[in-house]
Amino acid sequence: MEQVEQLGQQVMAVVPRAAATGCVRAEDFSPRLQTRLLVLQPTPFCNIDCSYCYLPQRDDRSRMALATVRQAAGRLLEDSLVGDELTVVWHAGEPLVLPQRWYAEAFAAVAQVLPGVTVTHAMQSNATLIDGAWCRFFRQHGVAVGVSVDGPAALHDAHRRTRRGGGTHAQVQRGMARLRAHGVPFHAIAVVGAATLADPDAFYDWFAAQGITELGCNFDEAEGAHAVSSLAGHEAAHAAFLARLLQRSLHGPVAVRELAAAWRALRHPLPRWQWRQFSAPENTQAQPLALVTVAHDGRFGTFSPELLGQPAAGWNGFTLGNVHDTGYLAALQGAAFARQWQAVQQGLAACAARCAYFDVCGGGAPANKFYEHGHFAATETLHCRSMVQRPFDAVLRLAEAALGQAA
Ligand code: SF4
Repeated sequence: MEQVEQLGQQVMAVVPRAAATGCVRAEDFSPRLQTRLLVLQPTPFCNIDCSYCYLPQRDDRSRMALATVRQAAGRLLEDSLVGDELTVVWHAGEPLVLPQRWYAEAFAAVAQVLPGVTVTHAMQSNATLIDGAWCRFFRQHGVAVGVSVDGPAALHDAHRRTRRGGGTHAQVQRGMARLRAHGVPFHAIAVVGAATLADPDAFYDWFAAQGITELGCNFDEAEGAHAVSSLAGHEAAHAAFLARLLQRSLHGPVAVRELAAAWRALRHPLPRWQWRQFSAPENTQAQPLALVTVAHDGRFGTFSPELLGQPAAGWNGFTLGNVHDTGYLAALQGAAFARQWQAVQQGLAACAARCAYFDVCGGGAPANKFYEHGHFAATETLHCRSMVQRPFDAVLRLAEAALGQAA
């Protein structure tokens, strides 16, 4: 721990000087920078109106041009940022508001500019628009489908509402039934707020009854247009909820993403990356260009995908450039990246110096640090306690108890 603290102090000392020069080069990183996730925002528009949505422009019906799709993918190749495999996530508003023929052309454009790269297309949908044609499309293109659904109807309909204020649960269930009928595999992601914590069994049983085997819990987070998390002040209840989910997932059919990640972290240390003297466990949201987000109009950013396009005084929507004008590596030489990197690095160094969970976390999500603390140089957030620290504690406690019994 002492060594980690010293390292953190060293980095805190060098980062302002390094970033101020704008001298951030791909070859300073080990392993060399590589993009694992390309998040393309095909449209900001969403057909529904969830109360906790962080997107400020979900009424905007703009659509990404195919030339922008081509440019966004092609820039990765130009900069040697892409390896043998790449996941393209179509996400911002509701991706299925655009027609299948648009995606067919977009997928073909990506394949054309990235020859030899195995591309997996992923979509996270509110499922209200899924019909037989979409199911056939998903199967034909091997799309990895995620459904956003919050569990039992009362929990879901309290927040995931139509633009007229009605619930969407019945439509989502219809969409999931169609996916099942057409043999399309899918996972679910639920936003878990304070009301969900009261009955973890009902929550778990609902997903099990739907035949869902992979569930991600997005514990309600303060982000963008959604300024306050309902979990604030409910952290003991959150710990109890997780402990019960852990018990259920050990013996039940539904694997919970956050707990599975904690088990993995306990068994296998995360690989590390290095920038100059600083070394940290892998964390896609904290490594430059590991995750690239491109908006419908070609503006792009890195680090947390939730940052791009968000209003924040002095940050220019966290934009690093536009794929029609600038390459991704070239953007690392710009003042916008230097400023973000300096601040994100300070946050990473502070996490490395102060947090016992750093080796299983890698320094958290810059977006949550920004929205909870007003800057990137922060450490602990409600979000990291919910998504990383407490799931890890729950798993560790169980593992220690099992070891104690075995001894
Ligand atoms: S758990 Fe929180 S405080 Fe700890 S390293 Fe992660 S983000 Fe930083």
